[in-house]
Amino acid sequence: MRIVVKVGTSTLAHRTGLLNIRRVEKLCRVLSDLKNAGHEMILVSSGAIGMGVGKLSLGARPADMPTKQAAAAVGQCELMYTYDKLFSEYRHNVAQILLTGSDVEQPERRRNFHNTLTRLLELGALPIINENDTVATEEINIGDNDTLSAIVAANIGADLLVLLSDIDGLYDADPHTHPEAKIIPEVHGVTPEILALAGGSGSGLGTGGMVTKLHAAQIAAAAGTDMVIANGEEPEVLYAIVDGVPVGTRFTAEVK
Ligand code: GLU
Repeated sequence: MRIVVKVGTSTLAHRTGLLNIRRVEKLCRVLSDLKNAGHEMILVSSGAIGMGVGKLSLGARPADMPTKQAAAAVGQCELMYTYDKLFSEYRHNVAQILLTGSDVEQPERRRNFHNTLTRLLELGALPIINENDTVATEEINIGDNDTLSAIVAANIGADLLVLLSDIDGLYDADPHTHPEAKIIPEVHGVTPEILALAGGSGSGLGTGGMVTKLHAAQIAAAAGTDMVIANGEEPEVLYAIVDGVPVGTRFTAEVK
């Protein structure tokens, strides 16, 4: 299978913005193992800004654009250094791809991206993708990696997109106010009723929430890609998801 896994800042970093070493080590081990099993793996990783905040001791996610972009520049290095080091232990080569909105909107650039990604997979590399936060200002940015990961999955014709986050899946009511709320195991079609279930969320360091995840589900479903939202606390959960075991919420593709 061709699988895109997206990890959010809340999965990769502690609340301090510093790396959650145990979590990231487990994630790299599982992704390496799935790759060894023959799957083509693509990682969409957030965490550049969050990790820059930690490294620069900024205390909180900056509100102004230049500081956010500076934090991303520092944090992206830290991210790739960590991934390169950990994946190297399992003999996998990582490749960094940083995109902006215009790279996925303009047909020629989108084609270039597709060709490079395809060749990287042929070469056995593990592409690691993030938004190019250092140059992506508000006018040209994609804005969140849930959407970015769905665009990537659609572009490369992925079989499966997994969003690993700090939530267990899509609930049938807001779990903060309704303790009896239950996870919806499978969604066929992101209807207005489903969209109405998305409340705001967020960890303080990342940008995603249920709204962006449902937007991603729409893009993925239309492109023929199944999408799963699951908790990334234990990255081993990926094994079950790839095997089709019900975990979190699965959004089934409209066409295959
Ligand atoms: N590109 C941002 C980062 O690496 C994350 C965007 C998101 O959390 O969706 O910090």
